[in-house]
Amino acid sequence: MLGQMMSQPLLISSLLVHAERHHGNREIVTRRPEGDIHRTTWKGVSKRSRQLANALEGMGLKATQRVGTLAWNTDRHLELYYGASGAGMVLHTLNPRLHPDQLVWIADNAGDQAMFFDLQFLPLIEATAHRYESVKHFILMSDRAHMPAETKIPNLQCYEELIESASDTYDWPQFDENQASSLCYTSGTTGNPKGVLYSHRSTVLHAYAAVAPDALNLSSRDAVLPVVPMFHVNAWGLPYSAAMAGAKLVFPGPGMDGKSLYDLFEAEGVTVSAGVPTVWQGLLAHVEAEGARFSTMKRTVIGGSACPPAMLRAFDETYGVQVLHAWGMTEMSPLGTVCTLKGGQEDLDGDARFAVLSKQGRAIFGVDMKIVGPDGEELPWDGKTSGELLVRGPWIVDSYYNRHGDDILRFDKAGLGWFPTGDVSVIDPDGFMQITDRTKDVIKSGGEWISSIDLENIAMGHPGVAMAACIAAYHPKWDERPLLVVMKKPGAEVTKDDILGYLEGKIAKFWTPDDVVFVDQIPLGATGKMQKNKLREEFKDYNLPTI
Ligand code: ADP
Repeated sequence: MLGQMMSQPLLISSLLVHAERHHGNREIVTRRPEGDIHRTTWKGVSKRSRQLANALEGMGLKATQRVGTLAWNTDRHLELYYGASGAGMVLHTLNPRLHPDQLVWIADNAGDQAMFFDLQFLPLIEATAHRYESVKHFILMSDRAHMPAETKIPNLQCYEELIESASDTYDWPQFDENQASSLCYTSGTTGNPKGVLYSHRSTVLHAYAAVAPDALNLSSRDAVLPVVPMFHVNAWGLPYSAAMAGAKLVFPGPGMDGKSLYDLFEAEGVTVSAGVPTVWQGLLAHVEAEGARFSTMKRTVIGGSACPPAMLRAFDETYGVQVLHAWGMTEMSPLGTVCTLKGGQEDLDGDARFAVLSKQGRAIFGVDMKIVGPDGEELPWDGKTSGELLVRGPWIVDSYYNRHGDDILRFDKAGLGWFPTGDVSVIDPDGFMQITDRTKDVIKSGGEWISSIDLENIAMGHPGVAMAACIAAYHPKWDERPLLVVMKKPGAEVTKDDILGYLEGKIAKFWTPDDVVFVDQIPLGATGKMQKNKLREEFKDYNLPTI
């Protein structure tokens, strides 16, 4: 016997319809790439998204065809999120920080038919437009006044003109909720980028999970500023979950430096933000230097790489901002775990509380996880035994987009049932997961595993250290030993012995790095993560001291 409830597909357009009907006057504020502050509302975004949907169809684009974007976090990008996906097309957000060759490769692999881009990327598109084989339409996301007088870009169109010339009457089509909605390529810290194709269903379910109190705890009273880019896993789903909650959205455009962000937080009454640790480092440095405080900020989601405990404490103790340490992946839409205290832990204080909060957290409903050993057997949740982390759920990738031959993996349907994350972790008896490494970053010293993340986290607690990366260096006896690469804070006087002295007593003796090297810069990838593969390459012939 089947239930007798309405069978309505979970579609992305329904999020926008809800936001317009119930939170129509809630603001969407953008520092636009042109430099001005632009103010609209969910109602305004809805109207223009309908105009955009008409315009896309007018350009001849059909359901499931891919619409590329090279754009910052802005209201126009939000219109594309809803206009393209809502009309049944697939929104493909490209990361403009990637190398132009990689962008061309990704757009071709995706078969993008149109490319919408911000003003800053005009020179990039001028130089590469002829190389995009599938792209038939190039649209500059600005107004007539900012269009170039001359251009080599074929059929370059103006976004604002496209919108103005289209009707705002449009009925969002209804279709199978499993239809593809958006496409995002992994940032490629682990080899060639791979396309992850989300569906309407996976996106809406992920939004439901994200707004829950033990997840991101979003409500209509929040003003959310996603620093995490809309080209990086859909800004962790915030454009969707903010619509579901009816929250105000504040978009920083290209201004991600500490001062620009801080000014926007204060001017717009931002209560929630989200980004990778490297961004928060810039913000904290600015606030510290100015002796400023946050007057409205309540929480910030930190993920993408491990949040150093020193950062967590600075936000929490010095500025009264709650850190939600979260873990996820492009392949997971991205949310997997979020760290909030459980019932019974409210009274924890000091170090005990931070010990819990610095973990990556508990699985949100919809994500199941386990850790396994080398032969696939499940390992205990004792907070000590580490193994590879596997996950499954309705917003986790089943197979990669447009792969051929051996590359086609079907994590679920082939009977594997689980997606191997490539992360190594421990899970404690309360279900709090802690990433100790990535499978390729873990340092294998004489059969024992040394967690590079733990070493980095501790080293970054030293007051003179701006950033630290720990990599494996070849060792004739132990195979691999830790080499700590350190970037000092400007003006700091720090020596190898200072660092080793600081680590002493905080780690097992055999974890002590065999050497500490100082560098001017630690290379960061396109999503602000440390590129340890580059460091491994740089130090591949490094001779560790023999004593
Ligand atoms: P890529 O795999 O190309 O780096 P993602 O942005 O999808 O692209 O990165 C996912 C990976 O980032 C995870 O598998 C994990 O290794 C790392 N990661 C994400 N969040 C955290 C976190 N809170 N702590 C530690 N590592 C994290």
